[in-house]
Amino acid sequence: MKRRELIKILSAAPIAGGLIGSGIPFQSAFAEEAVMAAAGRDLFKELGLKTFINASCVCTRLTATLMPPEVTQAITQGAEEFVLLDDVLDKVGEKIAELCHAEAATVSAGCWSALVQGLAGVMTGMDRKKVMQLPNVEGMKSEVILQKSHANGYHQALTNTGAKLVIVETLEEAEAAINEKTAMLWFLNRELNKGKVKYEQWLALGKKHKVPTMIDIASDAHPVENLWKFNDMGFDLVAISGGKAMRGPQSAGILMGKKDLIAAARLSAPPNSGICRGHKVNKEEILAMYVALERHIKMDHVKEWKSWEDAMAVIVNTVNPIKGVSQEVFIPEIANNTPTLHLSWDANLIKLTGKELRDNLWNGNPGIEVMGGGTMGGKRDGIELSVWQLKPGQEKIVARRLKEELLKASV
Ligand SMILES: *Cc1c(COP(=O)(O)O)cnc(C)c1O
Repeated sequence: MKRRELIKILSAAPIAGGLIGSGIPFQSAFAEEAVMAAAGRDLFKELGLKTFINASCVCTRLTATLMPPEVTQAITQGAEEFVLLDDVLDKVGEKIAELCHAEAATVSAGCWSALVQGLAGVMTGMDRKKVMQLPNVEGMKSEVILQKSHANGYHQALTNTGAKLVIVETLEEAEAAINEKTAMLWFLNRELNKGKVKYEQWLALGKKHKVPTMIDIASDAHPVENLWKFNDMGFDLVAISGGKAMRGPQSAGILMGKKDLIAAARLSAPPNSGICRGHKVNKEEILAMYVALERHIKMDHVKEWKSWEDAMAVIVNTVNPIKGVSQEVFIPEIANNTPTLHLSWDANLIKLTGKELRDNLWNGNPGIEVMGGGTMGGKRDGIELSVWQLKPGQEKIVARRLKEELLKASV
């Protein structure tokens, strides 16, 4: 170190000392920077980023969810110390497993990554040579069986390992498809009702033929029992997103299940090399994932549900007097299990398409994103919206903007 740099550091010391009592830990390696950051810097403004009210969904495109202070604090604290990556994965994994009735767990880079990592573990076992060989599947069991109605996009994650997908429709077809190459039976929870084969049959089939089973419950953290239900039921692996309904970091997720499979899955992920080496989750997000899960389990879900109903009532009651509108609140049974509004109107009384309303809300001030309007899951014309990602009070803004736009188009 040059002498000049040393002097610079020494002269900074009294400033750091002066921070005691200001709430910033003296040990912070970045004490001086923390003071500057506290002075305020609005990155959204600085970068010209459009922020908006999310009355839509926990979709990846919309950056999914907002993290509560407990979770962001875990990120900040995580950034302050070195730990061994394996150590934090071990310790957090143990806690997650305990909370969710699993033998073991690990934090993955989202649910997609959990699918890849989990299947990689099934295929390679503890054989490090095989770990380095993927996606070349030579000498490994490499077929995954799933139902046709469950093949709706996310199943592609499984092919990242080099595995081949075998799509079936009935239990008989599934059983007939099992052979010495079969690695896994995969289930997508959100399409439970569309598939012909239900949980018990799927699990029994796996047991009978000694083939591991995996279930994707990405955005199904409501009701909260879902977090342990599938481990209790007997799925060998369960994959879930951390940054959707659970409000953890968007790029984190959880893979949980049988001890040997989780240990094998970790061989393909950092700090190891292997097919998931690029799915790194930093220590900050690993810690935050743990805190988000714990918070989600401990929180008062009855109270939360009531707050959603109250927010929805503000919107419905504001819009209701407008001539020609019809509103229906429904609750998606599996994924995104939260009150959702379908709002439509008599086209003779309100001259507006669903898409126009959606665009007007997005382009207004503040911008509001809703669903429907002919795209993104809108089953009928009109729009759909949910309130679970609103900040307190935003329901009033959504209600006001809806009223304004609907009245403006009323004849
Ligand atoms: C969102 C989603 C995924 C991917 O999850 P990420 O956490 O974004 O990686 C996988 N499966 C389903 C059903 C999903 O909804």
